Formats: sequence, structure tokens, C-alpha cells
Amino acid sequence: MPEPAPISDPIVGIDLGTTHSLVAFCDAAGPRILESESGERMLASAVRYRGGVAIEVGAEARHHAVEFPLDTVLSAKRLMGRSFDESKEAHHVFQFEVVSGTRGLAAIAAGGARVLPQEVAAVILGQLRRTAELRLGCEVRRAVITVPAYFDDGQRQATRDAARLAGLDAVRIVNEPTAAALAYGIGRRGEPETIAIYDFGGGTFDVSILQVIPDNNSGDGDLFRVIATAGDTHLGGDDLDHALAEQLLADAGLASLSQENATLSASARQALRDFAESTKIALSQRESAQIDIDLGGGLQVRRTVTRAEFEILATPFIDRTIVACQRALQDAGGVAIDRVILVGGSTRIPLVRRRVGELFGLDPYTALDPDCVVALGAATQAAVLQGARRDVLLLDVIPLSLGIETVGGAVAKLLTRNATIPARAREMFSTSVDNQSHVRLHVLQGEREMAGDCRSLARFELRDIPPMPAGIPQIEVEFLVDANGVLHVTAGERRSGRRATVQVVPSFGLTTEEIDRIEHESVVHARSDMHRHRVVDLAVNSALDIKWIGDALSRTRTDLSAEYVESLESLITHLKGFISLAQASPHDVDANAFANAKEELDRASVAMHEMSISKSLRAIPNINPGINSTRTT
Ligand code: ADP
Ligand code: MG
Repeated sequence: MPEPAPISDPIVGIDLGTTHSLVAFCDAAGPRILESESGERMLASAVRYRGGVAIEVGAEARHHAVEFPLDTVLSAKRLMGRSFDESKEAHHVFQFEVVSGTRGLAAIAAGGARVLPQEVAAVILGQLRRTAELRLGCEVRRAVITVPAYFDDGQRQATRDAARLAGLDAVRIVNEPTAAALAYGIGRRGEPETIAIYDFGGGTFDVSILQVIPDNNSGDGDLFRVIATAGDTHLGGDDLDHALAEQLLADAGLASLSQENATLSASARQALRDFAESTKIALSQRESAQIDIDLGGGLQVRRTVTRAEFEILATPFIDRTIVACQRALQDAGGVAIDRVILVGGSTRIPLVRRRVGELFGLDPYTALDPDCVVALGAATQAAVLQGARRDVLLLDVIPLSLGIETVGGAVAKLLTRNATIPARAREMFSTSVDNQSHVRLHVLQGEREMAGDCRSLARFELRDIPPMPAGIPQIEVEFLVDANGVLHVTAGERRSGRRATVQVVPSFGLTTEEIDRIEHESVVHARSDMHRHRVVDLAVNSALDIKWIGDALSRTRTDLSAEYVESLESLITHLKGFISLAQASPHDVDANAFANAKEELDRASVAMHEMSISKSLRAIPNINPGINSTRTT
């Protein structure tokens, strides 16, 4: 295989967002976000002006908006290509001044500058361009840039102008929902499909219904048709922050944020909103968050906010998004939706996911980070335009096996290499420790037998399993690779009905060369890997046997002969020796001797089990290796 040619004149993908912007690039390993010098994936769409010039862009500018609200431009995208008059109803959301510019266009006055929104966007694009040049190590002059599906010609032209000002040729302007679909590889098979893209960002909400048009082999990405859009350009995560901040103020017995003569300074208000935002984000992860904020002037807010409380506040806003979805569905003529894709940071809110899932009756796609999916899709489109299509991985089969880690670090493969897509597999697992309430699932890809030698795809947890002895919970793990190559992993405990799921796109980050290398390595290591896997599983299962036999022995000991007890105990000691050796140095274990020792103990213990009164013990003939977990309550 020749060395990959150094990149020259690359086309990058850019998501120029209202609150955040990102740049991505797609090569043979698939699309990836290009991180800034300081390792950030998202650039805050914020620019601060002083003395008429842009002096800060990104997080610092956004951060300084607290101190310099009049000098900092946030959400300039809302004004792109719009006239002063038509954007009037939005002016109150800006802290900077909106003025009427040339040809009656909305312009911005901030920090001594008088600029058009595209000039602000150009500062942001310029920053992304520098990031791309840093990461790709070459000059970047071309980009695919995304815009909302509802942008009109004027808004699209303003976006092109912004690119030009930043020294970028916008080789194509792509709709954000189309980019999201491309990121998921939808349309690669040219099968007719109808997709809903639900995009809930910082300041805007929109839903688009796209149709994949079959029989288009041009590969130029024009295979999507927007059949309906609906939304609200003044509905987003910011509203949730605002609602939460208002609630906190009300609780503190203070006037509302928007009141003209509020007791709070502009910076205290901004600080409160920032605080509300981080609380909101924390509540997407946790059930409650602690608030402790000093607003100055002796004003303090100190309390706990629960997720349930936040959900009550969020519900009216989420309701509005649902109504918009219903409208879009109606406009689309009541078509059946095959898939739903979630886009935008606000779709991380669990209640949003639930409500959207319920509305469409589908498990929405969440495999790709909702913040990144549009940029990744823009990069995918860029790769197509560049002629660097990733046909190689658009296979009808799974290129590498998929499985989960089990106790001891071995891999249980559920779907093996070359299985035809779509593919589904289920297997039962159990716990390895008594009263284990959490099970950690680690999803892996590769041909080797031990987790450490495979590629880690995802980790997730199944929680709140009711206390049961080791080996009793029945944990069903299902792997489903759908037609678009998205892997859905579901783990469910049968008795309690607890479930947890995760989605990933296993082909991301893989090249054909890498697949070949992985295959080759698995052949080289086949023997020692198999040995290791067998020894690890034997050790785990032997330890469980010893535990059960020990438990049963203590219950029935008085009914058993001393010789019998002694013989069992000596078999246990013998088996324990193998377990210790397996843990210390698995390669030195004679696996057959180990298996024999286990079998001998199992056989010898039958007589005792027959004595045992415990039903539950007899109910388990043989268990699968427990899923890797060390957590107990
Ligand atoms: P845009 O496309 O408008 O630039 P984004 O997609 O970047 O917007 O979304 C930004 C919004 O997502 C912000 O309101 C932010 O607070 C919100 N957000 C980000 N992460 C989370 C999270 N984990 N939970 C809830 N909201 C989040
Ligand atoms: Mg967005």
C-alpha cells in the first residue's frame, strides 16, 4: 500500500452555528472534528470588538460578554442577510445594538465597530480556518458550509460572502439537516427513506423532513429533498437557561431578569444565565444539581435543583417543538418516518429524547454527538466533492466483529465479521458479584480475544438492578446493526425490566488498511488469544462455582459425611490454585488441566446439591460469564 498522499488544497466542512461553530475534515478514516490549538471542538460564535476592531473570538469573547455586553456580538447568524425591518422583532434578544445598514440591511454596532453580520461570521470562519490549517498542516481555502434549511437566497448569499471575507471559497452551501443525514451515511445505499431531523440548538429550533431520492448515483450529495420544514427561530436552549434563571430569581425573591429597573447589573444577569446553563447541562447527566451563586450586593441563590423540577420548566418549550414536528409531518402529507436524527446541544436533555421518541414512535439516532453531527456531515459532503469517497467502507457486511467485555477482560463476540447488514444478535449474561446493582458494558470491535487488544467503541451502564445473588440476574444484551451501519446496543435485566442503550457508528475512524492490519494480527495471535480467553473464562466461572459450592456447603455441612466434605474442600483448594495462577500469569496455565479440575469439583458437588434445599441454586445449570463489573452497592 502506498503512503497516503499529503493533503493539498483540502475542502473542510463547517457548521456555522448560532451559538457554536465547528470545522471538520473527512479522509479515508471518516469524518472527524478538527480541534482548536487548546483542544476545543466547538468555537463559541462570539466576537468582541474594541476601538472598531475584532479583538476576541470564541470562548473568551463569550466569557467577556458578561463584562462587556455592548461590545460582544453573540448570535449574529440570526441577522445574516436580513433587513433591519424584518429582523426587528428579534432585536430585543441582542445586548449589542442593531442598526440599519446599507440597503436597509441589519447591521451591528458594537465596541466602536459598525459591521454587517457576515463580517462577524467572517471572523468566526477565519478562526475555524486557522484551526483547520493547524490540524491539517496546509493552507485551507475551500469549505462546505451549512445553513438552516429555511435560509433564503439572501441569507445563503450572506453566508458565501462571510466565507469570501475569511479567505474561503464556499464550494457548496448545504442544508444542516442534509448534512446530519450524510453524517449518518443515510442515502449511501440509495434506498428510499424518509427522515426527520430534529434540531434543537441554542437559540433556534427546526425540524426538517427529508426524502432520500433513490436512483441517484451521481454521488454529489444531491440525493435529499427537503419536503417540509417547521420551527421557531426564537426557541432554543437559551430559553431554558432564561426560564431557569427566572425561577432562581423568583425563589430568591427578586425581580425578573427582563425588568427595566432590575436590581441586577447586566453582568450579574449574564452570570446568572451562565450559571443556569451549566446547571441545565449538569441535569442532563445527573438527577440534581447544587446551586450556590453570589450575585453581589448581598444577593445569593443557594439551593438544589432536581431534574424533575427542571423538566417542569422545560416542558412548555419542548411542547412547542413537538407542535412544530406535528405541523411538519402534516405538511409532508402524513408520510411514514423511517428515522429520526437528533441534532443540537439541547437534544442531550433526556426529556427531549423521550418526547421525540414518543412522537415518532422511533428510537432516534444519537450515535453521533448532536453538537458535531452537522459539521461531520459537511465534511462528508466535502470529501465527496473532493473525489475522496469512502466507498470502501460502504459494505453490506460488518467489517470487524462486535462484542462486549466480560469479567476478566475477555470479549464475548455477538456479531462476527462479515455478517450481513442489517444484523442482529442477542445473548444472555449475568453478574459476577452478589447484590451487584450496576453493570458496566464495554462495547468492542475487533478480532482479538481480549478487550485490551480490541477497539473500544462505547461504554455505558445498566443501573438499579435489584439486589440478587451473583449469576441470578438475567441480562439480555442485544446488538443491532441497521441498514445505515449504525450499531444499537441494548442491555436489559429481565426481572426488573431495567434497560440501557447506546448507539455508535463502528465504521468511523477505520480505514481499509486498518481492517486488513487488524485481521492479520488476529491470525498471528490466534492461538495465544484463544488460550488466554479460555483461561480467563475458566477462572471467572470456577470462582463462581467455588462460591456457590461454599455457600451450599455451609448450609448442608451437618448432613454430609466428614470424608465427603474433606474431598470437596481439597478439590476447591486445587481449583483455587489454578485461579491464582490464571490471574498472575494466564499463559502459564495448562487450560485442559484447569478445565478438568473445574469439572471434577462440579461432578463431586452434585451429591451435595441434591441434598441442598435451595431451589435457586438448582435453578442455574450453567451461567454465561458475567459482564465485566466490579461495582456493588
Ligand atoms: P447552535 O446550533 O444554535 O449553535 P448548539 O447545537 O451548539 O446550538 O446547541 C447549543 C445549546 O445546547 C445551548 O443552549 C447549550 O446550553 C445546549 N446544551 C449543550 N449541551 C447540553 C446538555 N448536555 N444538556 C442540555 N443542553 C445542552
Ligand atoms: Mg446547530
